Amino acid sequence: MGLGTTCIRGGYAPGNGEPRQVPIIQSTTFRYETSEYMGKLFDLEAEGYFYSRLQNPTCDLVAAKIAALEGGTAAMLTSSGQAANFFAVFNIASAGDHIVASNSIYGGTFNLFSVTMAKMGIEFTFVSPTSTREELDAAFKPNTKAVFGETIANPALTVLDISMFAEAAHAHGVPLIVDNTFPTPVNCRPIEWGADIVTHSTTKYMDGHSAAVGGCIVDSGKFDWMAHADKFPGLCTPDESYHGVVYAERFGIEGAFITKATAQLMRDFGAISSPQSAYLLNLGLESLHVRVARHCANAQAIAEHLAAHPRVSWVSYPGLEGDPFYELAQKYLPNGTCGVISFGFEGGREAAERFMKSLKVAHIATHVADAATCCLHPASSTHRQLSDEELIAAGIPGDMVRFSVGLEDVDDLIADIDQALEA
Ligand SMILES: *Cc1c(COP(=O)(O)O)cnc(C)c1O
Repeated sequence: MGLGTTCIRGGYAPGNGEPRQVPIIQSTTFRYETSEYMGKLFDLEAEGYFYSRLQNPTCDLVAAKIAALEGGTAAMLTSSGQAANFFAVFNIASAGDHIVASNSIYGGTFNLFSVTMAKMGIEFTFVSPTSTREELDAAFKPNTKAVFGETIANPALTVLDISMFAEAAHAHGVPLIVDNTFPTPVNCRPIEWGADIVTHSTTKYMDGHSAAVGGCIVDSGKFDWMAHADKFPGLCTPDESYHGVVYAERFGIEGAFITKATAQLMRDFGAISSPQSAYLLNLGLESLHVRVARHCANAQAIAEHLAAHPRVSWVSYPGLEGDPFYELAQKYLPNGTCGVISFGFEGGREAAERFMKSLKVAHIATHVADAATCCLHPASSTHRQLSDEELIAAGIPGDMVRFSVGLEDVDDLIADIDQALEA
C-alpha cells in the first residue's frame, strides 16, 4: 500500500458489519473466565488486554497504523511526545549510562535530557548536528547506549544527516533514535536511512488540529540487541519482575523493544494515551498525507516571499535554496520539509514585537503544526528569562519569529504578513 492508503487503512481493517471508524474502547479493564488465563497474561505468555494503564485496544490500533507509516515492526502510543522520548531512551539506558545527542533539539527534550534524566544518573554529550564523522566518533564512551537526534529540529530547523549518524551509532554497537515529529513519515521515513527507533510528538502534524497531546515510539525491528548483549542487559538478561523473561529471546528482534517498554515502563510510569485521544489522533492521521503537502506548499511560498521582502533581514527554512540545510533536505526530504519557518527583521526585536501585534489571521500561540497558522516570538514569551546575549548564544536572536504555516489560503496569509510588515 502507498503512504496515503496507509494513512486511511493502516492498523484497522473492519470485518463484515463492523464500525468503519476505530472503536473507542473506553474501559479500564477486561474480563476473563479463569484466573489461570489471567496469570498467563501477567507472565507475558498469552496475548490479551488486562488493564488500560499498560495497553488499550484503541491505542494499539492507532499505534499499528503509525508503525506501518514509518515502516517499523511495532509501536506504542504515549501520553505525550515528552513521554515518548523519555521512554525511548530510558528503555535502554539507566544510571551510569551515557547518550550522545544532537544539541539541536526541542527545548523540552533538551531539558528532559540535561536536567531531569541527568538527575537519574544518565549522562548526555551534546554534539552539533553538523558534526563530522570524526567529531561524532569522539563523543562515544564505553558506556554509550544510544544516539539521539531530530530529523528537522524544532525550532532551529536544522536537518540531521541520518545516514551518517546511523553509521556512527552502529559502528559503536548502539541504536540511533530519531524524533521525526516535524517531517512526519509523509516527508521522511528515518528507518529507510538507518534509524533504529523513531519517536513522535503526535500533538503536532499527526493530530494536526490542536485537539490532543500525544506521542508515539516505533521500533524498526532491525537492531540486533543480542549481538550487543553486554550493552543491553535489560533486553538480553532475565526480567525478574516477569518471571525471568528475556525480551530479546521471547519477542525477537521485531518485538523486544516495544514489549519491554510496555511491560516495564508503561506498567511503572503509566504515561498512556487515553482511547479518546487515540481516536482523535487517528482522525488526524487519515488526512496526514493531504495536509502535510499543503502545509509545505504554503510554507514554501511564504518562505520565498519573506526572503524577497526588504523588511525581512533573514529567513531560515530548509526548503529554501541557499539555506545551510537545503542540500541535506533535498537528500532526506525531497517532497517537502515542514510548515515551520523562522525569520527576523531589519528593525530587530522591537519590529518583531510590532509585527506579531499587527497580525490579524495568524494566532499567537506556543503551538506549531496546526491547521491554523500560529506564531511565536520566543524572546518575549518562551525564552523571556534570557538576556539578549543569552538569546544569541541559544541560537534564538531577539528579532526571531517562529511562524507555523497552516492550511488557510496562502494568499490570505501573505496579505496578513504584508500588512503586519507594513505596520
Ligand atoms: C513538541 C515536541 C516534543 C514534545 O512533545 P509533547 O507532545 O508536547 O510532549 C518533542 N519533540 C519535538 C520535535 C516536538 O516538536
